[in-house]
Amino acid sequence: MNKEELIAKLIREGYIARKEVAEAMLKVPREEFVPEELRPYAYEDRPLPIGEGQTISAPHMVAYMIEAAGIKRGDKVLEVGTGSGYHAAVMAEVVGPEGHVFTIERIPELAERAKERLERLGYGDRVTVYVGDGSKGIPEEAPFDKIIVTAAAKEIPEELLRQLKPGGIMVIPVEEAPGFQVLYRVHKSPDGKIRIEKLLPVMFVPLVSDS
Ligand code: SAM
Repeated sequence: MNKEELIAKLIREGYIARKEVAEAMLKVPREEFVPEELRPYAYEDRPLPIGEGQTISAPHMVAYMIEAAGIKRGDKVLEVGTGSGYHAAVMAEVVGPEGHVFTIERIPELAERAKERLERLGYGDRVTVYVGDGSKGIPEEAPFDKIIVTAAAKEIPEELLRQLKPGGIMVIPVEEAPGFQVLYRVHKSPDGKIRIEKLLPVMFVPLVSDS
C-alpha cells in the first residue's frame, strides 16, 4: 500500500472523519519514523518496532485517537509516550502554528531520536520533546486542552487529570484486567467534573511509572 491508499482506507473504515486529519496524515512521511529496513512497510496499517522494545502505533490508532480527542487547530496538546515522534508530528499538523504539542518519553534514546527527526522534518517549533515519566505530566507546561496517552495505564493518573483544562479531553488506554485494555475518553467539564466513556478494546505497550 502507498500513503494515499492507506489514508483512503482509513477514511472508508471510519477512523478518519475530518479533512484536516486526512491532510495531516497525507503530509507526514511515516517512513521517516521507522527503522530503515522497515520502510517498505511504513504504509501498512500496523504497529512496527522502533527499537528499545517499543513500537510506532498503527496508523488507524493514531487517526482514531486524534479524532476521539477532537484535536483541532490552536490546541495545546500533551502526548505521553513520544516513541518515534510520528503521532506528535501528525498532531502538530492538525494544531497548526497557533497550537503546540508537548510530548514526553521515558526512554532517553527514543526521545533523542524523535527530537532529531522532528527538527529535521520542520516540526521543531511546534513540538517540544521532554524526557521523563509522563504519568506525572509536564506541570510547568500545564494546563492542556487535550491529553493523549499512547501506553496503557493501570489507572488514570491523577496528575494528568489535574493538568487537563476544564472542558478538556484525555484519551488513554487503561488495563482493566491482566491483558485486557480499553481505550477511555475522559471529559473534564467546565466546572471540573470528570466523566469517563469507554471506547473500544485496544493493545498498547505498558505505561511504566517511576513510582
Ligand atoms: N506515539 C508513538 C509514536 O507515534 O511512535 C508510539 C508510542 S509507543 C506505543 C509508547 C511509548 O510510551 C513508548 O515509547 C514507551 O517508552 C513510552 N512510555 C511508556 N511509559 C511511559 C511513561 N511513564 N512516560 C513517558 N513515556 C512512556
